[in-house]
Amino acid sequence: MDLLDVYDRLPTGRYCSGCHACAIRCSGDVPAAAEEWECMEDYLRHRIPPSELQRLLGESKSYQVAAGYSIELCPLYDMKAKSCAVYPVRPLICRMLGFVEWMPCPIERPLPVATEGLEWMRQYAAMNPRPIPRWVADSGLSIRRQAPTDQSEVARWAS
Ligand code: SF4
Repeated sequence: MDLLDVYDRLPTGRYCSGCHACAIRCSGDVPAAAEEWECMEDYLRHRIPPSELQRLLGESKSYQVAAGYSIELCPLYDMKAKSCAVYPVRPLICRMLGFVEWMPCPIERPLPVATEGLEWMRQYAAMNPRPIPRWVADSGLSIRRQAPTDQSEVARWAS
């Protein structure tokens, strides 16, 4: 499965009002394939300043859905900015939100439907995607919660 080709065939964000109501769908178990995670990790390491990355990964992702009921959001959802921290390189599932029957737009905008969605999911499952929190944990990024004090480390982060 050529993921870039599938990305290109999905409708683009021009249909989106930017309301962020879909953030509730950014649950902690959204998966990413290995090649997607490579892009996401590269983006996290090189496009986000170290202090911002520490804040992003160190903040609570608990989201209160109703009184007394909270869910854990994706570790890459930025609670402060109220948006995805890796939006340009988000994985397939995130790109499909709003454009397949089983993940409709939460504010019910009439968006075009990607009719190949189920077939894409079948092929995607064969790529053994893993939940994003597991990728983050295995990357070692999540344990870097303190500001690096060693200058060589700072330079490596900034490169
Ligand atoms: S990668 Fe971004 S869009 Fe996808 S679930 Fe995480 S925060 Fe949401």
